[in-house]
Amino acid sequence: MTLLSIRGLTVHHGLLRAVDGLSLEMERGEVLAIIGANGAGKSTLLRALAGLDAPTSGTVHLAGRDITRFPAHRRVSAGIALVPEGRRLFRSLTVEENLLTGAYRGRPGPWSLEAVYELFPWMPDRRRQNAAQLSGGEQQSVAIGRALLSNPDLLLIDELSLGLAPVIVRRIYGALRDIVAAGTTALIVEQDVSQAMRVADRVNCLLEGRSVLAGRPAELSAEQVERAYFGIRDGED
Ligand code: ATP
Repeated sequence: MTLLSIRGLTVHHGLLRAVDGLSLEMERGEVLAIIGANGAGKSTLLRALAGLDAPTSGTVHLAGRDITRFPAHRRVSAGIALVPEGRRLFRSLTVEENLLTGAYRGRPGPWSLEAVYELFPWMPDRRRQNAAQLSGGEQQSVAIGRALLSNPDLLLIDELSLGLAPVIVRRIYGALRDIVAAGTTALIVEQDVSQAMRVADRVNCLLEGRSVLAGRPAELSAEQVERAYFGIRDGED
């Protein structure tokens, strides 16, 4: 069943078309990884889906409902939650206070404080610590927990593994498997292409705001992905 349907989405930053006529669909329960070089438009796409960047044209439907013009807070109620680039925790609030900010405008569903603590077993013992005292991986986990507390149908994660040690990245992707198993659909921006190919059901490569390659990892060769990523056309080397 289709959860997300994006048709001809264009988002400008001033005169720049950061996202340029993009169309894509997501089925419920899948993990789609957006890859692409710096400036390809990945963050802008996620921000537009979360209602933080306004599209110039195109439509976005969530579970058949047109949410193109919804402001950010109505998208949370509609079932979209964003884990932003750089995690964006409230540094002077505790872990638990940060998590609870996600429950505001939350919907009913499987995710409660207890469920998040079960997903990340290190968290309960440190729930009264300030977010500023956490490592990057811990902050990313809290940012994911905060997003889950709104019980989203669609979880958007920007730059999931950026700046994190490989062992931490593996742990967070392990948690993502549990999140998807609990019924959430995940659209992630992953700058590590081989990581994206390992964890996603499908990948979509952006170049200058357009989708230049899309498919299941098993169907795409390393060469195809490399050419799409760097924008090398047939006959060019
Ligand atoms: P990165 O991996 O560097 O975050 P990205 O694929 O996420 O790249 P975006 O951050 O979406 O790309 O940026 C797409 C283009 O839009 C880039 O050329 C960027 O410089 C520009 N851009 C992004 N945000 C703004 C903004 N707030 N104002 C002006 N230009 C912007």
